[in-house]
Amino acid sequence: MDIELQTEGGGHVAVVEIPPFQRLPAVVIWGVRTFTLHTAGERPADGALPVYREAFAFVSLTPSPGKPRPTPPPPPEVDRSAREVVGAAVAPGVPDTAAGPDGQQRGYVVLSAEERAKGFVRPVRRHYRHLKCGDQTTMGYALAETYARDPGFYGATFCVTCKAHFPVGPDGEFVWAGGFVITKDAERLVQNPGEEKVGT
Ligand SMILES: [Zn+2]
Repeated sequence: MDIELQTEGGGHVAVVEIPPFQRLPAVVIWGVRTFTLHTAGERPADGALPVYREAFAFVSLTPSPGKPRPTPPPPPEVDRSAREVVGAAVAPGVPDTAAGPDGQQRGYVVLSAEERAKGFVRPVRRHYRHLKCGDQTTMGYALAETYARDPGFYGATFCVTCKAHFPVGPDGEFVWAGGFVITKDAERLVQNPGEEKVGT
C-alpha cells in the first residue's frame, strides 16, 4: 500500500510503499528520515493516502543494555523528636507506659503523622511473630508506619501470647510475619529463611 510522507509542516516529501498492514504502523522510517502517522489509525476509505509527517528523531548515544535506571532520592533523615502518642499520654508526646490489664502499655509513642508521611525506608508491615513462642501479634497502623519510617525507633515490642514486651532489632526475638495466624508448632519456633527481624 502507498502512503504519503510530508514534512513536519505538511509539505509533500514523497509517496512510498509499505506492506499492506491491517493497522497502520505508528512510525515509518524512509532512509535516514523518520515519519509518524498523522492521519487516523485506519486506512482512509475515500482512497486518499494515509499521511505520515516527519519527526525529529535521533539515534541514542548509549549502547545496549543502556544505563542503570535512576533511583529516587531517599526520604529525608528521620526526626525522632516529632512524636505523638497512641492511647493514654501523661504529657504531649509522652505515653503512659504503665501496664494495662492485658500487659500492654496504656499508651505508646509513635512518630507524628507528618513525620511518617515524609517517606518509608521499609514496607509497612503490621504482623510479627515472636520466635520464643511462635505466635503472631498484629499492631496498629501508626506503629507499623513508625517502623517503616524508622526501623530502629523501638527497642522492644509486645507479644499477645506471652503478654509482655521483648527486644526487637538484629538480636531481637521477633520476625515480620505474612499476616496469617500461626498455630503453636515446634517447627515454627525458629526463624524461617527469608523472614526479616523486626526492628532492622
Ligand atoms: Zn510470645
